Amino acid sequence: MYRITREISFCYGHRLLNYEGKCRYLHGHNGKAVITLESHQLDERGMVLDFSELKRVVSTWIDSKLDHKMLLHRDDPVLPLLLAHGEPVFVMDANPTAESIARLIFDFAVEHGFPVVEVSLWETETCYATYRAE
Ligand SMILES: [Zn+2]
Repeated sequence: MYRITREISFCYGHRLLNYEGKCRYLHGHNGKAVITLESHQLDERGMVLDFSELKRVVSTWIDSKLDHKMLLHRDDPVLPLLLAHGEPVFVMDANPTAESIARLIFDFAVEHGFPVVEVSLWETETCYATYRAE
């Protein structure tokens, strides 16, 4: 089995609903997504996938949709206020935890045909969450 990994750094804001810790308030993180692909076979170039393909598709999407955006649950009461003031937000169906953001990026990569097996989302230098294929 071959395995390749690419890291994509981005900044995001969020806050968590139904949570008592510091992340209950609006704040930001310097996050890093670590995306891992696997394949039993290599292509004619001897690659699982050209790293630049991940950059072209997944990095571009993260840059445009998540980077420097406020990631909020759609039920967050602050959402209408931020939208009314033209603040850039990304609305999520789930609480915007590191787990949910890892799943979001995983699902995007799967939908775009990447043989992704795992996405980790580093929220700080010491904490990360991983979502992987069953
Ligand atoms: Zn946080």
